[in-house]
Order: sequence, then structure tokens, then C-alpha cells
Amino acid sequence: MAVDGLGAYDPQNIFARILRGEIPCRRVFEDAHALAFHDIAPRAPVHVLVIPKGAYVSFADFAATAPDAEIAGFFRAVGAVARQLGLEPPGYRLLSNMGADSGQEVPHFHVHLFGGGPLGPMLLPELAPAA
Ligand code: AMP
Repeated sequence: MAVDGLGAYDPQNIFARILRGEIPCRRVFEDAHALAFHDIAPRAPVHVLVIPKGAYVSFADFAATAPDAEIAGFFRAVGAVARQLGLEPPGYRLLSNMGADSGQEVPHFHVHLFGGGPLGPMLLPELAPAA
């Protein structure tokens, strides 16, 4: 079920539990600011989730409230993950769902990193406004 990406942080969300080691993950990267692991239901040949170690419900929360050092550290970690996975080149796509219209399911900010082959159109053409 989609979440609104706003309000109080739920420390029982699944990514908080992964960060605490209560639930296993297929880890690909970890540093002081971020943890990256394979998505359990991949939608591309490479589908990795990168999450900050701090408690932020969504991109909106992270962008508005995280200290600058955490924001810089997190996005540098995303770049490091892409390089580590051998995606720079040939390229990759980043996506972060925020709120109900996006279909965000897990209320802990995360970036999806997709790659491993041509990824197709950014969004479904039928969603674009008529020209
Ligand atoms: P979102 O819709 O942006 O909130 O994406 C949540 C993502 O988390 C989905 O792609 C799920 O497949 C993924 N996911 C949910 N539970 C787990 C888990 N235990 N380990 C890895 N990925 C998960």
C-alpha cells in the first residue's frame, strides 16, 4: 500500500529493520551514510536500493531536514554504488518514489538504481499530457 511520505518516521518499517540487522539483505555497499542492497523484486537486470542510515520517511523529508553532510554523503554513496556495480559506463537510472501518486511503499527514503541493459522509456507514454 502506498504511503504519503510525510509525517512521523515509523521505526518498524522494513528498511529500518534491515538497517538494524533484524532482516537480512543482499548488501552491495555500506559506508557511514548509506546502505545499498539488491531489491527483493527486481524490475531490471540490476535493481539496487540505496538508503540513508538516518531516519527519513521520504525524499521530501530528507531534502528538507537532513544535515548537509548527510545529504552529500548519501548522494556520493549512490555514485559509488553505481561505479562499484560497473554501471558508469554504460549508464543507469535513479528513481525515488515520494508519496501516494508515486506508489511509494516503504516509508524510509530510498533511491532505486536500475541498470544492466537498456531501460526503455522513462515513464509510460500514455501518462504524458497530450501535445
Ligand atoms: P517504493 O515503492 O519506492 O517504496 O519501493 C520499495 C521497494 O522495496 C520495492 O521495489 C520492493 O520490492 C523493495 N523491498 C521491499 N521489501 C524488501 C526487502 N526486504 N529487501 C529488499 N527490497 C525490498
